[in-house]
Amino acid sequence: MRDSKPATPRNRYKRVVLKLSGEVLRGGKAGDPIDGPTLEKICIQVKEIHDLGVQVCVVIGGGNIFRGLNGEKRGVDRTTGDYMGMLATVINGLALMDCLEKLGVNTRVQSAIPMNQIAEPFILRRAMRHLEKGRVVIFVAGTGNPYFSTDTTAALRASELHAEIILKATKVDGVYDKDPKKYPDAVRFEQLTFIDALKQRLNVMDSTAFSLCMDNSVPILVFDLGNEHAIRKAVLGEKIGTLVHN
Ligand code: UDP
Repeated sequence: MRDSKPATPRNRYKRVVLKLSGEVLRGGKAGDPIDGPTLEKICIQVKEIHDLGVQVCVVIGGGNIFRGLNGEKRGVDRTTGDYMGMLATVINGLALMDCLEKLGVNTRVQSAIPMNQIAEPFILRRAMRHLEKGRVVIFVAGTGNPYFSTDTTAALRASELHAEIILKATKVDGVYDKDPKKYPDAVRFEQLTFIDALKQRLNVMDSTAFSLCMDNSVPILVFDLGNEHAIRKAVLGEKIGTLVHN
């Protein structure tokens, strides 16, 4: 007799780095930097792919709270501002941890700047072990160095951990040939190569992050987190966002 059970969806990816910009945690344009319901919605999406058996690393940004470059405009020394930005990612990471744990997902937070009371230090082999044990690993404090970004952190961690892809969750639904906010005729790419993105000067990630991905052949999927089940669709390889690859 044929098995009448519905086919379970096949994951396209087994290990992913999910890059969340800090802004995705904000509720509305001028809402709280970390909005409870928004945070929960994101964590439910993370749980969804975790339940599919995907090994999930999260690299969280801090732009909803502080960015070194913005601080510089207000007279804060760039290096100091960057450390403030890195600390902002720690706040966001703890919020993610708390919410995911409440949803029943085991997590570990690893920080690139040692702060033993609140997070483990970043140790690659330990992170691998957590993933194998089904824990979501949240990387905070960026690379631990000023003048870098959390996009670069995502590129670095994805390379170190041999993740198959970076899922770059944003508020736009992919990469366009020009700014879709300014130009209504802007066209979204379904996929493009790193070289094409470079040639056309498309802003996929900052240049350090971008070249790290290109050199190590780590594909990047840029997609809109607001799309229903967006992260799930991404790991199942459904058509969503823009895939940048070699
Ligand atoms: N940052 C840094 N080094 C890193 C990662 C981040 O100095 O390796 C600082 C930098 O000031 C940055 C801020 O932390 O502006 C927040 O990170 P990011 O701008 O990448 O956050 P996102 O835009 O993703 O929210």
